[in-house]
Parts: sequence; C-alpha cells; structure tokens
Amino acid sequence: MLDYDLHCHSNISDGMLTPTEVVERAASRGVKVLALTDHDDMDGLDEARDAAIRLGMTFINGVEISVSWRSHTLHVVGLGITPEYPPLVEGLRGVRSGRGQRAQKMADELAKAGIGGALEGAYRYASNPNMISRTHFARYLVEARHCRDVRSVFNRYLVKGKPGYVPHTWSTLPDVIGWIRGSGGIAVLAHPGRYMSGRVGMGKKTMRELLVEFVEHGGLAIEVVTGSHTPEQYAEFARYAREFGLLCSCGSDFHGPGESFRDMGRLPDFPLGCRPVWESWQQLVSLAAA
Ligand code: AMP
Ligand code: MN
Ligand code: MN
Ligand code: MN
Repeated sequence: MLDYDLHCHSNISDGMLTPTEVVERAASRGVKVLALTDHDDMDGLDEARDAAIRLGMTFINGVEISVSWRSHTLHVVGLGITPEYPPLVEGLRGVRSGRGQRAQKMADELAKAGIGGALEGAYRYASNPNMISRTHFARYLVEARHCRDVRSVFNRYLVKGKPGYVPHTWSTLPDVIGWIRGSGGIAVLAHPGRYMSGRVGMGKKTMRELLVEFVEHGGLAIEVVTGSHTPEQYAEFARYAREFGLLCSCGSDFHGPGESFRDMGRLPDFPLGCRPVWESWQQLVSLAAA
C-alpha cells in the first residue's frame, strides 16, 4: 500500500472539505506525504501546509490545471510548484477567468432543457466563486432531484452532446508545462485513462501523440495509480510510462465523502518496474544535503 496521496481537492475548487479537513482526513487514513491539487487555484496551500505540519505529514504544493489539447480537455498536475511564481499566478488567473461566463451559459442551456435556478443553485455550492465548476452544477442537479448522484449527472448532463454542455477553451499544453517547470515543479499528466474512455475518447495512436508532445514540452510523469483508473489501467499506464521514460504518480483524486471513486490514501502499490515520481525530489533533497 502506498502512503503517498498526490492528487486531491478541497473546497477551494470542487472538493467538499476545507483544506484543513482534507489534510486531517488524509492523516487519519495513513497518508504520510500529501499534495493538495485544487483545480486552477493555489489558495488552499497555505492552510493545508499548516495543518500537515501540525500533524507531522510531509506536504507537497500542488495544483491541477485545465488544458485544451486538440478536441480534448486534459488535466496536468503540478507537484512541488512555487505558488508565488508570477507566471504561474498570472497563468492560473487567466485559466479561471472564463469560468463565470461559462457558468452563465451552462445555466442558460439547462434552462432550455427545463431546469431552472441552476446558476444560483450551483453558486451555493461554490465556496470559492472564482472556481465555479461543473461539479457545483452537478450537486445542484442532485439537490433538485434531476439525478440520483453526481456521477449519474455526468452521464446525462454537462458533457458533450448533453444538456448544459458548453465548450470551453482552457490553456495550452506548452504554457501549462512551462508555468509548472518554471516554478520548480514537476508536470504530471493526470488520469490519462479518462481521455481514452467514452464516445469522444482518444485512441491509442492519439494517446501516443499526446505523450510525445507532453515529453517534448518537459512533462516528467503520468498518473498510474489513480481513483480514475481500473487495475487493468494501472498496468496499461505503467507500460506507457516505461515506453516514454516517464515517472509514475499516484493519487486518490478525492473530492468528498461519498462522492469520489476513492477515499484518500490506501492506494495499491505501483506495478513492478514503475519509477515513483518522488524519486526525483528525493534526489533533489539528497543533492541539497551533499
Ligand atoms: P470543470 O473543470 O468545471 O469542467 O469540471 C470538471 C470536474 O467535473 C472534474 O474535475 C470532476 O470533478 C468532475 N467530473 C467530470 N466528469 C465527471 C464524471 N464522469 N464523474 C464525476 N465527476 C466528473
Ligand atoms: Mn474535480
Ligand atoms: Mn482531473
Ligand atoms: Mn482532480
């Protein structure tokens, strides 16, 4: 079992718990090294770091950035970033800036489908209104009894071809990797298996093209063990990691009790042959100590 959890969310983005509550939950479930990786926003890091230090855990600054690549939306996690780095701060401000308008359009689309009150409803779930997201709309749709749970919302609404979907252009892959690397962090391709699923998912050829570009721009790792992958996908992406010389990362992608595929921590070990992403920072630490 791994005692690292390098991907999770607080209510600074679309998680349900405060940064302190996320850290306390991780500690109680045996996590020793934690990264908080809110979507497109770093405002939870100070609070989470304080809580982690108090509980004797190692804390890694993280963020999960939304990217548009060809027709796909991708997520790139930055680990070990410096949150004060101005291009990263400015870059994320830009990524967040379209969310308010997108939310308005989503509510308009839902209204056309007969669902009223969605804008106000979604904002009631957004502790940080700058980070209004589809998850907040999903919670409102559950509250208003249009769906049983958040997961079933994403089968019937808010995705391509369904009511409430609004196309959006996020940041570019080279920009995002550049901000992360420039701030001293490691760029990790989040939950790659998700980009290959469903009707609009990419095929193997496109996944290889993505990984070529990701490496060319300086991406160093991919998530292998994540709440979004099946055990078969752990093995599949361990093979991609080996083929492309990438380090392997792991994280629950926890959003809230009862809402996530996995709770925090207690992730199964990597398949044999994976080089964990923390090898890279342990090297840095030992270099600094030498
Ligand atoms: P946004 O960045 O506003 O487009 O919202 C994306 C968020 O929606 C993701 O980070 C997930 O938390 C959530 N989400 C997307 N697809 C699904 C799904 N199929 N099941 C559950 N949550 C999803
Ligand atoms: Mn999310
Ligand atoms: Mn994600
Ligand atoms: Mn995530």
